[in-house]
Amino acid sequence: MRLSRYFLPTLREQPADAVMVSHQLMLRAGLITQETAGIYSWLPLGLRVLQKIEALIRRQHEAFGITEMLMPTLQPSELWQESGRYDNYGEEMLRITDRHQRTLIYGPTNEEMITAIAKRFITSYKQLPQLLYHIQWKFRDEIRPRFGVMRGREFLMKDAYSFALTQDQATEQYETMLRCYLAIFASMGLKAIPAQAPSGPIGGTMSHEFHILADSGESTLFYHQEHDQLTPDDDPKRHLALYACEEELHDDTKASRENIIKKRAIEAGHIFYFGDQYSRAMNFTITTPDGKTMHPLMGSYGIGISRLVAALIEASHDANGIIWHSSIAPFTVALINVKQGDAQCDELSDAIYQNLQSRAIDTLYDDRAMRAGVKFADMDLIGIPLHITVGPRYAQDNSVEVKWRASGTTAICSVESLGDYLNEHLSC
Ligand code: ATP
Ligand code: MG
Repeated sequence: MRLSRYFLPTLREQPADAVMVSHQLMLRAGLITQETAGIYSWLPLGLRVLQKIEALIRRQHEAFGITEMLMPTLQPSELWQESGRYDNYGEEMLRITDRHQRTLIYGPTNEEMITAIAKRFITSYKQLPQLLYHIQWKFRDEIRPRFGVMRGREFLMKDAYSFALTQDQATEQYETMLRCYLAIFASMGLKAIPAQAPSGPIGGTMSHEFHILADSGESTLFYHQEHDQLTPDDDPKRHLALYACEEELHDDTKASRENIIKKRAIEAGHIFYFGDQYSRAMNFTITTPDGKTMHPLMGSYGIGISRLVAALIEASHDANGIIWHSSIAPFTVALINVKQGDAQCDELSDAIYQNLQSRAIDTLYDDRAMRAGVKFADMDLIGIPLHITVGPRYAQDNSVEVKWRASGTTAICSVESLGDYLNEHLSC
């Protein structure tokens, strides 16, 4: 992508109304722009990050055998009347009246709709277990939308739903989703701690929230220090056995208990097991192997994709801007021509750009006729992992400077050896 033709409205000034670093950086780096309270447009660079996260989530769901589908944003209110949540969900639910005076709601979550769909097609135990997910915008009329996309009103969620015949099957599905989530967060370079959670308006009996440690987080997390040593490959039971709780469940005295660490955190995901709560309320039955009928056992599993963009920035930034993890960076390489208009620099930059494109390496090529300082500041701000700088000094020797955004490490590399350098250092 040539930056001269791209749409990247970066801001020099600190946005006055943004208090959280991720919100400030998302506005300054031209990722989002606000339309009204808690509702944002995703500008090209922000959309790329969102899509990278989606792709990574899809890959992991696929790997764990979870099937993608897509449900609409608007839902008939009758579904919610059946489950009993139409009146209970409260002010967060956006209700819309259509031309026939029928009430629709902009879905805040999809338990009712997925139950209705399963009921339409699943009649026998032979069709279970099932694990389905979709990625769709949600709307919750939050009383205080804040911190940009961290707590928006319209936000992108990945939500999965499980249907099981037996308690064992249901537990296995819960553990599969737990492992899937740990793998997702780890592949983005994030450490997520599953903490015991109250189930809230979704109800249910077993529930864990996935917390990402960040000083600016809205939650206070108390967790056993051994969580820090666990990896996503460890037995899910080990993750669940170790103590981790949000403050609303336990008081501060926990912090003084041995081996318990207290840290601020951001909730990025949430998994629930709620048995037959919805299948029973919505009269969804299947036949069992012994010829009886039962209500399938269900769970739901959400990740806030748009919130994750902000959480990733909270977890990884410095005074100069965002530092993206390579797995979800909007571009892998920033190619900076510091002297646009200089024949040698232009020729060398163009050649490197062609080469990167032919290798399918996502590259943002800063070919703008601007001061080098502005270009460096922009590239630091938007956080692309690897910067390749073409300037007159090294161009004479057919060399470039490479710089890693995260560490600040630089090296001089001849153009001939650049391909090998990239092969060695880029995982893509
Ligand atoms: P919170 O306690 O932060 O309000 P929640 O418990 O209401 O979250 P869930 O219903 O479990 O959230 O939704 C699943 C995920 O969706 C959350 O873990 C979070 O990542 C995301 N999410 C929920 N509400 C919002 C919001 N208003 N803006 C952005 N993301 C959200
Ligand atoms: Mg909420």
